[in-house]
Amino acid sequence: MINKNEFNDLLLNLKKQVEERIDKTHEHIHHSGEPVSKSFDEQAAGRGNDEVVYTLDSLARTELADIEDAIKRIENNEYGICNKCGVEIEMERLKTIPYTRTCKSCASD
Ligand SMILES: [Zn+2]
Repeated sequence: MINKNEFNDLLLNLKKQVEERIDKTHEHIHHSGEPVSKSFDEQAAGRGNDEVVYTLDSLARTELADIEDAIKRIENNEYGICNKCGVEIEMERLKTIPYTRTCKSCASD
C-alpha cells in the first residue's frame, strides 16, 4: 500500500526544486536580477550557447507538468498505477521517479 502523504510531500518538494530551476533559467535568459548560480552558469557556459538554457527550460517545464499531474493522481486515488498495464508501480521506482506513469516493465518497452 502506498503512503500517499509521503509521496505527496516528495512531489511537492520536487515541484519546488523544479520551479526554482525554472526561475534561475529565466534570470539567465533575461539577464536580469540576481546572478545565476555557479553550477548553472557552468552548465550553460560549458556547452557554449543559450540554446542549452532553452532546452533546460523546456525539460524543466515538462517535468513540472508531470509532477503536477502526479499530485492530481494522488488526489484522485489513481497514483502509483501503471497507465499502460494497470498494475501497481514498484515502490522503489516511485521513490526514484515519483512522477512516473508506468511500471518498470512498461517503461523498458
Ligand atoms: Zn505497466
